[in-house]
Amino acid sequence: MHAHFFPCQDTPGVKAPYTATITAPFELVVLMSAVRDGEDIADDPLMKTYKFVQKVPIPSYLFAIVIGALESRQIGPRTHVWSEKEYVDKSAEEFSETEQMLKCAEDLLGEYVWEVYDLLVLPPSFAFGGMENPCLTFLTPTLLAGDKSLVPTIAHEIAHSWTGNLVTNRNFEHFWLNEGFTTFFERKIVGRMHGEPFRHFECIGGWTQLECEVKHLGEKHDFTKLVPDLKGVDPDEAFSCIPYEKGQAFLFYLESILGGPDAFEKFLKAYVEEYKYQSIDTDVWKTFLYKHFSDKEDILNKVDWEAWLHAPGMPPIKPEYDNSLAKKCTDLCKTWLEADENDLGQFTLKDIEDFSSPQIREFLGFLDQGDPLSIKKVEKLNEVYKLGERNNAEIKFRWIRLGLRAHWKDIIPEAVKFITEQGRMKFVRPIFRCLYDWDETRELAVSTYKEHSSEMMHATLQGVGRDLHLISDDKPQDG
Ligand SMILES: [Zn+2]
Repeated sequence: MHAHFFPCQDTPGVKAPYTATITAPFELVVLMSAVRDGEDIADDPLMKTYKFVQKVPIPSYLFAIVIGALESRQIGPRTHVWSEKEYVDKSAEEFSETEQMLKCAEDLLGEYVWEVYDLLVLPPSFAFGGMENPCLTFLTPTLLAGDKSLVPTIAHEIAHSWTGNLVTNRNFEHFWLNEGFTTFFERKIVGRMHGEPFRHFECIGGWTQLECEVKHLGEKHDFTKLVPDLKGVDPDEAFSCIPYEKGQAFLFYLESILGGPDAFEKFLKAYVEEYKYQSIDTDVWKTFLYKHFSDKEDILNKVDWEAWLHAPGMPPIKPEYDNSLAKKCTDLCKTWLEADENDLGQFTLKDIEDFSSPQIREFLGFLDQGDPLSIKKVEKLNEVYKLGERNNAEIKFRWIRLGLRAHWKDIIPEAVKFITEQGRMKFVRPIFRCLYDWDETRELAVSTYKEHSSEMMHATLQGVGRDLHLISDDKPQDG
């Protein structure tokens, strides 16, 4: 007798293993969020049959299937990278550190139970940076920066193999148990590979993003709570960087008061061991934390749990991050902000000569935090730092936003090109919002959206639609 996965209730509170047999046209390749278990010629000579096994119980949101003209390259003992042929060699090169990151993650979190860890680079319309489908992480091609500078996303998806995929949030009010923990481990992994100061640098960047998001949503907004109330709310609508960055900051803070990395990493390993294969909520985690640190109850009792978990706005405490790598970025930002309009000759390419691309990214992020820059300053930035010529998507995104907020007309064609050649929500939504906020480009925002809506994934289409007030905020969307 067979038990079937679908139809099912779409809740992360229930998990099941699965097997699958998929038949597809001969020239295409089928992959799933599972271990490949052989392929065969089908009865129809023009078709091929693929088998898959996922022995580990998974929630329904991790069920994934892809069919396409895919090629692969092996980049590690348990890793192939898959994509259409245009991206496959570039991807193999960009993600060559995957095995090294997997080993760091195993050291932190315990055995990797999923056997294979493959990567799939999707077409540019993919709405997310990555999606942690078991055995087969889905990725946006906007990570192909050419210098491996965007691989923290791979570290993030790898970490989900434990936090999220093994220990899962019971429902999406506790999404931070997936994303806050995973962001915390992502930065632990990059810290082990590139040094502790880089971990702190990434945390500072995350804090900046958190401030931006709280400002955008409003500091009283329910979605700015670490554990929001999602009764009657589509979790997609509540999606933002809050559970990632507020959650990460909370864990960083707890680590600092509970004896530092050694003690806290031991706790986290024990936590994963205790709750793997289960779906849990914040209370279960908190009870386990108290049990594990029973000798530190007085410290735990001083934590402002109410403010961290249930209050809206910024966290009650900012963790103490080492700013040795961020200082260059904030210093240069300050010089630009304080510079006189008519005295911009002091700036040259030398200013950023020894900046890594994450440092250029953060420099632009800091510049974009306050009031819009003047057009004169934006033009000068472009002239001396050649920002329009950089292909790193994170840098391009911040640069375009800076230009649009300054109402610099020259940036408009670049902005439209950027939001129509890829569909990653993190980039597309804020740029559409900037275009909408400027009288000059409001109609252009709406017409661009309408013209390209058939190329967008559902989540992007809905999100941008809401941002442009073409879809109402208060009705749950389906379809
Ligand atoms: Zn994630």
